[in-house]
Amino acid sequence: MRIVVAVGGNSLIRAGQRGTMAEQWKNVLSTAVAISDLVRAGHRILVTHGNGPQVGNLLLMAENAKDFLPELRLDYWGANTQGGIGYLLQSSVTNELHRRDIDGRVITLATMVAVNLEDPAFSNPTKPVGPFFSEEDAQRYARDRDWCVAEDSGRGWRRRVPSPRPVDIVEIGAIRDLLERGYVVVGVGGGGIPVVRRADGTYHGIEAVIDKDLASALAARLLDAEMMALSTDVSHAVLHYGRTEQRDIGQVTAAEMARYLSEGHFPPGSMGPKVEAALEFLKNGGKRVVITDPAHLAAAVDDPRVGTSITP
Ligand code: ADP
Ligand code: MG
Repeated sequence: MRIVVAVGGNSLIRAGQRGTMAEQWKNVLSTAVAISDLVRAGHRILVTHGNGPQVGNLLLMAENAKDFLPELRLDYWGANTQGGIGYLLQSSVTNELHRRDIDGRVITLATMVAVNLEDPAFSNPTKPVGPFFSEEDAQRYARDRDWCVAEDSGRGWRRRVPSPRPVDIVEIGAIRDLLERGYVVVGVGGGGIPVVRRADGTYHGIEAVIDKDLASALAARLLDAEMMALSTDVSHAVLHYGRTEQRDIGQVTAAEMARYLSEGHFPPGSMGPKVEAALEFLKNGGKRVVITDPAHLAAAVDDPRVGTSITP
């Protein structure tokens, strides 16, 4: 099968961790083991990943170096995380395959994802990125850097950027060719580097972020993948999240999942985009979506009784 495995940025730098090298190498290992299991079973794998904590750290570094270094842009920092996280995944999957004597090649691809400037997200930037500021600093950056800023749930002021929907993946042909040749491809990192296509056919980066779950669903559709596996830090999507009546969702249809979504079980910014991405992929010909953690990932691809398994 062709499978898109979407790895959560939060499973690489976990809540409460500082993101040291030791922590990141350790965190990526369980994902590398799962991917190697899938390669051994003969599947063709595109690994996508989030980059929330990682790009946040780069923006914090940039802020602290602003007296010495030029100001760079969010599309560039996003591209940096594709390289850094790509390296962690590429290296650990390569080593895990080698350890098991499995013949396999792994490659990371800087990936641009086209968005539409007419997307309503551009007139209403909603996605907080980077460090917290005092109100005074935030208002100054709003003037000097033309930023959109807003107060973030009582914690301080932050920059906000648009989160437009992904419409095309510029390198999708290259990804398809590499999968066909047997490469494990790490791509579409952080939802892709957001670009717009001009009338003359050229692409230009813009300051926005694309949801990695939606970009992964687009990749899965464009590749005619059979499955999408959303790897996160919980073994199941659940009903009544965080309440005493919480219960795991096992095997479920897209229609049931759509009802749970409309009933408010999956908040925006965490489980919501995963479920939306799953429904979108299944509506467009996908056969099955699993939502689970790295420890259950390979088993969940084999067996619909493991993790949350959604079918059309
Ligand atoms: P990722 O980096 O994998 O995209 P997210 O933080 O965006 O991770 O989403 C996963 C998180 O969603 C879980 O850690 C959990 O805290 C939260 N969550 C919210 N609602 C639910 C739900 N209904 N079922 C399971 N997890 C949920
Ligand atoms: Mg997420």
